[in-house]
Amino acid sequence: MNRENSRERYDRALDVLVGGVNSSVRAAPQPYPTFVEKGDAGHVVDADGNRYVDWVMGLGPLLLGHDLPESVQAAVQRRASEGPMYGMPTELEVEHAEFLARHVPSVEMVRFVNSGTEATTSAVRLARGVTGRNKIVVMQGGYHGAQESTLVEGDAEHPGPSSAGIPQSFAEHTLPVPFNDAEAAKEVFERHGDDIACVLVEPMLANKGIVEPVEGYHETLRDLTDEHGSLLVWDEVITGFRVGGLGCAQSKYGVTPDLTTFGKIIGGGFPVGAIGGRTDLMEEFTPVGDVFQAGTFSGHPVTMAAGLETLKFAAENDVYEHVNDLGSQLRTGLEDVVAERAPEYSVVGTDSLFKVAFTRGANADRSDDNPGPRNAADVAAGAVERWNRVFRPQMLDSGVMLSQNQFESQFVSYAHTEEDVERTLDAYRSVL
Ligand SMILES: *Cc1c(COP(=O)(O)O)cnc(C)c1O
Repeated sequence: MNRENSRERYDRALDVLVGGVNSSVRAAPQPYPTFVEKGDAGHVVDADGNRYVDWVMGLGPLLLGHDLPESVQAAVQRRASEGPMYGMPTELEVEHAEFLARHVPSVEMVRFVNSGTEATTSAVRLARGVTGRNKIVVMQGGYHGAQESTLVEGDAEHPGPSSAGIPQSFAEHTLPVPFNDAEAAKEVFERHGDDIACVLVEPMLANKGIVEPVEGYHETLRDLTDEHGSLLVWDEVITGFRVGGLGCAQSKYGVTPDLTTFGKIIGGGFPVGAIGGRTDLMEEFTPVGDVFQAGTFSGHPVTMAAGLETLKFAAENDVYEHVNDLGSQLRTGLEDVVAERAPEYSVVGTDSLFKVAFTRGANADRSDDNPGPRNAADVAAGAVERWNRVFRPQMLDSGVMLSQNQFESQFVSYAHTEEDVERTLDAYRSVL
């Protein structure tokens, strides 16, 4: 496969863009990233004219694939041509917020922002402002964007920054605990309960393999936060309108958080984030309350139009049936391939998320168990180099674009077809 143009563009990029990219994970593919020319339904075409089945899907936002339906296309064009933004409110923001409040159990009010990172940053500030407490509990291997309070590693008694540039004095307010470990959660609340503003948790670890919650884990976090007067904040930036359909993961798992962060799908492919929650909490944000929050581009008309029309399209068509059905076909097919070709690996994911983890959970031998990873430590034990250097490049040669590192999820869109699924399963079968 000729990738000369990608190579040449990356060579140029290395002179003017740090690492040749604008977001770190894009530089992960070996030996250089594929530069995209354009999208087409469930495929992307690269700078050399090669076509791939695309399971990256913008890292999650593209629920409908690369070709936006007529209604979305028209709304975007109209807003862009009427003047892209105003710094004054538009009805679109109201309508989008009404949609979120109507469908997501925990959401009464919304504040739109411009990225998932901004959403989690504001949610943590709100939780701290509301409770008057400083500490937050996060999951080891959880991801909440590139922000100071969550780029933290270690454990609850020894937290430290996971990036240069973050003071230890910030990191010490963040208490990382292992996902799916109810005892560790109870212990951190026994020790620090009176100082904990919130637990910030993804419904599943969706940026570190795909690790689903074990039965009862989220209920434990709900109970602990209630008992100690802390807030439960669900980061649904990736799962929102992806897992659990229009009700999001909180409706699938039947747990209602105090605050929820959104991003990705709710912008229909344009930059977006949002915080949603109960009125009494949300009204602590300025201009009603005292927790400052603002943004020049927040509620951007083009984004609001794209996001709202995407969600409306999903509500009025068989989008979730389609993506979840293909997701299930992929996972079932991959389980056969893995059983036959790589029994030391496991198939993970739910709804329209799928992945082969190059490892199994520490509990995998218990026969009634899901053999997949149960926490970040299980995921980290995966065969990363094999995935990066051998497996992914061969999948690319077979015309299948997988996630850019082993830990990102892969996403089914409404534009994908059964033929894409078959082709992908064939490629896994011959490459694994
Ligand atoms: C993608 C993601 C973020 C960060 O969103 P950005 O828009 O990249 O800032 C935060 N949390 C989760 C769970 C995510 O998947």
